[in-house]
Amino acid sequence: MNKTIILNKRPIGRPEHLDFKVLDKNIPEITKDEMLLKLKFVSEDPYLRGRMSDSESYVASFKLNEPIFSGCIAEVIASNKDSFKKGDFVFGYMDWKEYQTSEGNGLLKVDASIAPLSAYLGILGMTGLTAYFGLTEIGVPQKGETIVVSGAAGAVGSIVGQIGKILGCHVVGIAGTDEKVALLKSKFGFDDAINYNTSTNIKEDLSAVCPNGVDIYFDNVGGKISDGVYANINQFGRIIVCGSISVYNETSVPTGPRVEPFLIKKSALMQGFIVGNYVKKFPVGSKQLSEWLKDGKLTYSETIVEGFDSIPQAFIDLFDGKNKGKMIIKI
Ligand code: NAP
Repeated sequence: MNKTIILNKRPIGRPEHLDFKVLDKNIPEITKDEMLLKLKFVSEDPYLRGRMSDSESYVASFKLNEPIFSGCIAEVIASNKDSFKKGDFVFGYMDWKEYQTSEGNGLLKVDASIAPLSAYLGILGMTGLTAYFGLTEIGVPQKGETIVVSGAAGAVGSIVGQIGKILGCHVVGIAGTDEKVALLKSKFGFDDAINYNTSTNIKEDLSAVCPNGVDIYFDNVGGKISDGVYANINQFGRIIVCGSISVYNETSVPTGPRVEPFLIKKSALMQGFIVGNYVKKFPVGSKQLSEWLKDGKLTYSETIVEGFDSIPQAFIDLFDGKNKGKMIIKI
């Protein structure tokens, strides 16, 4: 059989199991222009939460009762196409189905001899490119500057911090457990880190570990954590708004301190982005990330959860901080 995960209902607030349904379908036959793909790895991403709602965004909402899809790695197990052969591994946006057909549009071959297949969903994929372009294109880090990263022990955040160190900056992370704080310093080379769950005053705790203030804030979480960072922004600081997971499950528009006074007083820049803005430069970013990885300047963590049926729970777990680095399902 061919297990398939559909969007059963739109989450209200925090996603739950009833929002998803696993169906058993037949394994499809391929036509003369198609190949059959077997799912191997699934990328779990916080932005999928937005696609599960029906509010307008930069990508279309998932349809109710239709399969959910995300970045995946699959193996070609039968092919009628000249460009893909049995045994090839491909990356692309695929349905959460054990088996699916494809004509190959939008699929990229990936090479398991260069890097583990899962890395193409993380450091060598959209995650790495998000960290690289957000930081270098909007943050434009200068040697000696201080970078603060929220969601620092996650997939994007852990790479941002390391790039900041490669570029000669003082890097401070914000994460949700003491274990993650320790990991940021021991494995990813952050100069310091704070635990937002035990901090009683993020503004003051951050000020203590950023003696020269904050020049660049790479924000993955938004909300109250960011309120504490804005108060430390230096003149001509840059605030890179990558994600705001802390408010993705809110059912009303969250309010907080207004940002305008910080921006005006400090002549600071605040810019949101989506990684797709830099699609023309992806080859440059990919080359740089691969080189740093090969030279041992970058490392990465993955939380790999096994089994197709685990896909919904692992997605929900993103909102409880269960992952260190990239959250991936291995089928
Ligand atoms: P991730 O950071 O690996 O996973 C989510 C992490 O967010 C969790 O491990 C958790 O870590 C933290 N978190 C969850 N709920 C939180 C809350 N209420 N407050 C503070 N932290 C919370 O995910 P990712 O894939 O690297 O993505 C990071 C952010 O970037 C997300 O907001 C995502 O939507 C965004 N993103 C944007 C783009 C773009 O193109 N702009 C591309 C990729 C990702 P703790 O244990 O530290 O809480």
